[in-house]
Amino acid sequence: MKQITVGLALLLLVLLTSQHAVAQRSSVDYPVYDNGGKPDLTIDPKRFVSQMAIIDRYFDAAGCEFQEGAVGGTGYRRILRFDTVVINGGDGDLIVGDRADPTNPYAAYFYFSPCHGHYHIRDFSVYELLTLDGTLVVAGHKQGFCFEDSFKYDGGKSHGYDCAYQGITSGWGDWYYKQLGGQWIDITGVPEGDYIVRVTINLAGIFDEGANRYPNVIETRIHVPDPRNKVSN
Ligand SMILES: [Zn+2]
Repeated sequence: MKQITVGLALLLLVLLTSQHAVAQRSSVDYPVYDNGGKPDLTIDPKRFVSQMAIIDRYFDAAGCEFQEGAVGGTGYRRILRFDTVVINGGDGDLIVGDRADPTNPYAAYFYFSPCHGHYHIRDFSVYELLTLDGTLVVAGHKQGFCFEDSFKYDGGKSHGYDCAYQGITSGWGDWYYKQLGGQWIDITGVPEGDYIVRVTINLAGIFDEGANRYPNVIETRIHVPDPRNKVSN
């Protein structure tokens, strides 16, 4: 009887574990919904918060980060960096296409990013630091994006969008990891305290998001340490 109990307990544990695994994979924050065949762009909240870090890093005048305006000066800068994954929760793909195509409606928004070595869409997103009462502390720079399929969150197969033919398949996400140039806010000289980090996407409303049920703005709180104390990488 004891053995059976242990056996049952084990089976139950296995069932619970596998159910948990399945639940995790299918439990998405932003499942695909009927958006009239249009994309709906939003940000993965878990990855945004979990990957956030503050580091001190050296930038020289010849570097693309300084030349792109991703840092406000040269030398050691304190940067608050994080992952941004743009999820497409609409039932239509985001199709941005090829910049070389003269009929591309977004042709005017493409620009070359020397840090990334490919074309981005301008004014797609902005990264900002605010006080807890909402006063802007660091305007942040407008991070450009080259849209491609990185992870599947929900829905079907990738339609294979990449930096040459940009887009995000319905149910997929485009990952900008924190090690990428400009994937940060330059917080050099910001006094110690608690702040809000805010990311806004589809800033200029370039892309039609239909009902736009899912948020285009994400915020989280962060503690900024004393600027006189070096932070370890
Ligand atoms: Zn890029």
